[in-house]
Amino acid sequence: MDVARHISELRNLLPENVELVAVSKFQPIEAIKEAYLSGQRIFGENKAQECSAKYPLLPGDIQWHFIGHLQTNKVKYIAPFVSLIHSIDSPKLLVEVNREALRNNRVIDCLLQFHIATEETKFGLTIGEAVAILESPVIQDLKNIRIAGVMGMASFVDDEDLVRSEFRTLKEYFDQLKSAFFSAAPWFKEISMGMTHDFKIAVEEGSTMVRIGTAIFGERKL
Ligand SMILES: *Cc1c(COP(=O)(O)O)cnc(C)c1O
Repeated sequence: MDVARHISELRNLLPENVELVAVSKFQPIEAIKEAYLSGQRIFGENKAQECSAKYPLLPGDIQWHFIGHLQTNKVKYIAPFVSLIHSIDSPKLLVEVNREALRNNRVIDCLLQFHIATEETKFGLTIGEAVAILESPVIQDLKNIRIAGVMGMASFVDDEDLVRSEFRTLKEYFDQLKSAFFSAAPWFKEISMGMTHDFKIAVEEGSTMVRIGTAIFGERKL
């Protein structure tokens, strides 16, 4: 019952307005069921095929969040059921998500992923790229996506001040986009930031959604 205990310990640490996304990538169905039975309903996956394989094996009221890098040719696997895509990092991907959402007669909520870490390897937009996307008439015409906020990953380091400043940057990007493009859009409200090792800092800096795997399920067996 470790999974249930970890979830309830985390819930006690998180403010009520912060959503907990249980990152279940690489985890077996049994572990996800245990989390579900403890009341957890939001799960995060980072591989489209793994996510679409798990979906039919688990209860229908789970909200599946996609949190990993998404290739356009994989969107079709998750479009029928995904409830939030955290990782939009190009206009091309947004167009493809819209196309697949339309085919499934749905509107899919999306977050713009920003590159906030000093590390080279992480995906994500710059603020300039995000503004260009939001100003683009092609993107503004898309009816089957809804942009609900921003997401980012801080550097994977012990330097708390650096991590904090990266989260602060993401919060500033959110505020900037909110006032420039979404002041009349109540659904633009999510700041997805914080993982097992840095969620406390993320919450202090304004996170509305933390994505936590290891602290719930233990180390992943790759
Ligand atoms: C794996 C992953 C997480 C969860 O990481 P933990 O350190 O296990 O909490 C969060 N966000 C993204 C994008 C991930 O890929």
